[in-house]
Amino acid sequence: MEDPRRREFIKTLLAASFLTLSTKEALACRNGRVKIELPPFPLQETYLRGEKKGGRVLIVGGIHGNEPGAYKAADILRHVKVKRGELFIAPRMNFVSILADRRGYNGDMNRKFASISPKDPDYKRVKWLKNYVKEVKPELLLTLHDGFGFHSVNPRAWGQCIVIDAERYKNFHLGKKARTVSERVNRFFTKREWKVPVYNTNTFSPDTKHPEQRKSLTYFCLKEANVPAICLETSKQMPNLEMKVKTHLLLMKEFFKLHNVEIEPDFNYIISHLDQFLKPKVHYSVNLNINGRNVLVSSNRTFKLPKGSRVEFTGFHGTAGTNAVSSDVNMNLRKVGIRRRIAFDVKDDFKRIFTLRFIVV
Ligand SMILES: [Zn+2]
Repeated sequence: MEDPRRREFIKTLLAASFLTLSTKEALACRNGRVKIELPPFPLQETYLRGEKKGGRVLIVGGIHGNEPGAYKAADILRHVKVKRGELFIAPRMNFVSILADRRGYNGDMNRKFASISPKDPDYKRVKWLKNYVKEVKPELLLTLHDGFGFHSVNPRAWGQCIVIDAERYKNFHLGKKARTVSERVNRFFTKREWKVPVYNTNTFSPDTKHPEQRKSLTYFCLKEANVPAICLETSKQMPNLEMKVKTHLLLMKEFFKLHNVEIEPDFNYIISHLDQFLKPKVHYSVNLNINGRNVLVSSNRTFKLPKGSRVEFTGFHGTAGTNAVSSDVNMNLRKVGIRRRIAFDVKDDFKRIFTLRFIVV
């Protein structure tokens, strides 16, 4: 006859092993969710160094997500060779907002450089940039934006201008430098509204009309990092993306000249072959791992998944702007549990390429 104590002992053993081996799976099955995980948004930075000695310039793009002229122009520079000087590029500071095509998916990032809560979804990126500026200590930082309207015909508009916080700060002659660039660039623009004047916000002055600028990146650079920083603005109302990018390239060309930075191909070549840079011939695809199986997807697809499934986005292929977001959930979340269905748009910056749908069956 079987010893009841032995039977009890085996039962306890089995129960214990079930718990230790499969607590995770059991929980996933019990709440019936499909877990989907994406890698964190990358913090892109590029460093290019020329053989010849020259200046050191840091380019920041994409602090505002709905300003493609700015982040596309910064991104183009990642694909050039630097002949003289050093170039540091952070093209997509606010990647979640770029993919959402919103100015600030988590509020205005350019108001977070004086202070930011550790709970803010932008915290990591803002902190990173502040440290990066202090670490690199460039001779000049240029932050790129697409503002509203045309400053030359409406002095309250931020579009088409070079913004400085002061005529002069310590030994940085911001006004003089910005005016030199403005004069040179304006030879290319015949339309009055497209001209790019200098806009001094007098941020340090007690009676500035723009005290909010004390929370901006350029003010942080000057005051906290002792780095001269200037903001370049094209206009959201320029006729197309090409013209916005062109404005930024023309401005950067002149600042680079002043700072002894040379690139190859040069700015004239890039501007006259802009399509090559803005519409690269790439094949977009995404690597997924679904319940341990690798799948490569390059067009719209619907996956029907049993409860408890796990999906991981393991790789994006295309451009540096290729990533995935879902408008069904908070886009900051990179790990989600779903009960019914969710759709992820695979995008190249603001542009949707294809959609992946996951349905729980
Ligand atoms: Zn902006």
